[in-house]
Amino acid sequence: MRTADIFKEKTVFSLEIFPPKPGADESVIYKTLDGLTDICPDFISVTYGAGGGKNGSRTIGIASDIQQLYGVTSAAHLPCIGLTKQQAADILDSMQKSGIENILALRGDRGEGDTPHGDFEHASDLITFIRENYDFNIIAACYPEVHPESASAADDIKHLRYKVDQGASHLITQLFLDNEYFYRFYEKTLIAGIDVPIEAGIMPVTNRRQIERMVSLCGVELPKKFRQMLDRYGDDPVALRDAGIAYAIDQITDLITDGVSGIHLYTMNDTDIAHRIYDAVQSLIMVSTGMRA
Ligand code: FAD
Repeated sequence: MRTADIFKEKTVFSLEIFPPKPGADESVIYKTLDGLTDICPDFISVTYGAGGGKNGSRTIGIASDIQQLYGVTSAAHLPCIGLTKQQAADILDSMQKSGIENILALRGDRGEGDTPHGDFEHASDLITFIRENYDFNIIAACYPEVHPESASAADDIKHLRYKVDQGASHLITQLFLDNEYFYRFYEKTLIAGIDVPIEAGIMPVTNRRQIERMVSLCGVELPKKFRQMLDRYGDDPVALRDAGIAYAIDQITDLITDGVSGIHLYTMNDTDIAHRIYDAVQSLIMVSTGMRA
């Protein structure tokens, strides 16, 4: 199923997973999928290491298995940085043959000191390439706190509008910890005439390393409430995990109550966290979808 069509029927609840690292036990991902698919997500997206090689074939295989073995819609991420058009076509052909219908078209991040020599400068170039040559449903990324490389929020929204004009039919946000950023961003997208569903990307933050990585990589602001949580529970891994899950549930509750189109949960392949969050918000999703009075 094309992800854009699911939003016509319901408030979407979807998940992100990543393939096992090279050399890791391949069977682990299927245990993860056993645990995640029993909450019946609307779709599961599978990340893809930028640069073409690395775990790309795993992404395709896993995204295909999600559909064939579990009967759940999948989306394969595809970062275009460093790819030639021929390499992108080879990957897209393989995705098409594997029955994948949804592609999250991304630029990817530059490694430190990298000067990639590919045919695509921005995600929009890949989106155009896909639209002109294939029949995939295209998803794109967006940034409530503005992409770190953007000169301004207005520039970022202009480029986002271009991605939609080129064929992105659904957007997923980078993680954010303060919903006010999402609401302000959403208003700007409406003013810019962006009229595709925007899913809020939520990452339950449950350990200190994850927080440090998030701040340095994504430039996400840590709100006062979140910093207080860290100060109070940061030295106790069990308490921090519980508090991080509660924080994510609180964010999702507020977003669904406000009428968000969908929630995309960055699961970090942790089935327990995904279950605890889904169990807490399932009835809210059903009410929003009109399945409960
Ligand atoms: P772009 O849309 O190209 O934007 C990047 C920057 O360029 C922005 O500042 C934008 O404003 C600017 N820009 C865009 N278009 C133009 C233009 N036409 N002219 C001038 N400037 C322009 N990375 C991975 O490697 N693998 C993954 O699986 C992965 N999954 C992700 C999933 C989600 C939901 C998100 C939010 C991010 C993911 N990323 C992934 C990270 C992503 O690759 C990085 O955030 C990257 O820095 C930007 O990707 P993009 O597709 O948003 O790029």
